[in-house]
Amino acid sequence: MSDCIFCKIARQEIPATVVAETELSLAFWDVAPKQPIHILVIPKAHHANVSELASESPNALVDLVQLGSTVAKELSQGSFRLTFNSGSEAGQTVFHAHGHITSVTPKEQVA
Ligand code: 5GP
Ligand code: ZN
Repeated sequence: MSDCIFCKIARQEIPATVVAETELSLAFWDVAPKQPIHILVIPKAHHANVSELASESPNALVDLVQLGSTVAKELSQGSFRLTFNSGSEAGQTVFHAHGHITSVTPKEQVA
């Protein structure tokens, strides 16, 4: 979609701090992190939310979860959340499917 901010990030039309990608998915830092680790994982193709992604492109959803897990393993001590806000009442503000990878403890802080 031409006016979708995450489509623009996927097309590299606007900058993002990218941490990893696959053919289908892109992982980058949230512009306003709410945890010490806060990464967004998106499908490169536009889907409005995770439910539509699941029905329209299930392989892209699996790829997104796998990429998010890899990034979480690299950046955190191993415990993390993967959350999808779906619908404005649930807090979704960007209507391009995305998972939030959040964790309180970066890897380097573990004794
Ligand atoms: P939602 O509220 O839709 O679940 O999550 C949207 C997230 O996208 C928010 O945490 C917000 O900080 C982040 N965000 C919004 N615009 C941008 C942007 O242009 N770049 C990046 N990296 N994150 C963004
Ligand atoms: Zn989009």
